Amino acid sequence: MNPIPFNKPFMTGRELWYIAQAHTNGHLSGDGQFTKKCHAWLEQHTGTHRALLTHSCTAALEMAALLAGVQAGDEIIMPSYTFVSTANAFVMRGAVPVFVDIRPDTLNIDEHKIEAAITARTKVILPVHYAGVACEMDTIMDIAARHGLIVIEDAAQGIMSHYKGRPLGTIGHLGAYSFHETKNIIAGEGGALLVNDPQLAERAEIIREKGTNRSLFFRGQVDKYTWVDVGSSYLPGEVIAAFLWAQMEEAQAITARRLALWQRYHAALASLEHDGLLRRPVVPQDCSHNAHMYYILLDSLEQRGAVIASMKRQGVNAVFHYVPLHSAPAGRLHARSCGSMEHTDALSDRLLRLPLWLGLEEQQDQVLAALHTALLESRAA
Ligand SMILES: *Cc1c(COP(=O)(O)O)cnc(C)c1O
Repeated sequence: MNPIPFNKPFMTGRELWYIAQAHTNGHLSGDGQFTKKCHAWLEQHTGTHRALLTHSCTAALEMAALLAGVQAGDEIIMPSYTFVSTANAFVMRGAVPVFVDIRPDTLNIDEHKIEAAITARTKVILPVHYAGVACEMDTIMDIAARHGLIVIEDAAQGIMSHYKGRPLGTIGHLGAYSFHETKNIIAGEGGALLVNDPQLAERAEIIREKGTNRSLFFRGQVDKYTWVDVGSSYLPGEVIAAFLWAQMEEAQAITARRLALWQRYHAALASLEHDGLLRRPVVPQDCSHNAHMYYILLDSLEQRGAVIASMKRQGVNAVFHYVPLHSAPAGRLHARSCGSMEHTDALSDRLLRLPLWLGLEEQQDQVLAALHTALLESRAA
């Protein structure tokens, strides 16, 4: 039998139909009819001032770094337990990521350790909503306001999640979504920048359109189109937007099915947690999440290796991430840590992600059985 993959991109069935429409429309560059539909959907569903599709969440973070006016030597406070792009988008501007440890419950940045990391060079606080579960945003926004800092949310994993009823990505000045095929709503490679601060919206359009005022020109707001600022080409073509539109139409249903899979894991693993065999994810009271990920925490790096190997022998692919950025070669070169990275180091060694994709429903019991066996084996060893 074929092994159960860790991830399998879900197609709604309308992607090719919309791509064919884009083809028929004859508008294949960016900001055509499908991009406009996606922008309108994002603005309606999140309430952000302006949503802009990008090639990736990485591109959206690069735009955010430019919009925040990040300069060489500026410091960006962020967790080390995250994907490389969170840091790289700012390192590319010569800025220095300053890592703060994570909370042991949600694995999000520990909001109580942020203030100690602030210096005269701090420019941005960059919370990452791990697994689509919100960081403690009220505290973070309060710290930012008191110190005059910009907040950029890495909400790559956070579409359709909320913090106290507010969509993730809309609470800071800027937010970034990912539509990479490993995320909940996909376009292959894709992303979006949410511009929540209206003062940044016009410049965001310019930076996204190669530093030109082309968007204003198309809307008839200026009478010629010219080079006005720095920028790059951050807008995806219509084929990508057409694919993404098929996914956005189904976003609610996709999230509901993911939540059902997540809850099935969570219920099935309750007794193992009770027996001290693993720890399950924690979702704070005021967060509603999107079931981006189901992970468990094991006892040690050694046990995790054994569990992964055993599950693989039983035909189930379970994986781990991240190598904390402070211990990665480029992290040691370009960034620094503030305080101990105790929880980051310990938890990243112990975390195991279980398969979670639409269609897994029929095989989810097999994953659970394989995990059970693997845990017993690792205990006996
Ligand atoms: C996936 C991810 C990214 C990068 O998204 P891309 O769309 O692949 O550029 C950035 N940050 C986090 C936390 C992610 O999970």
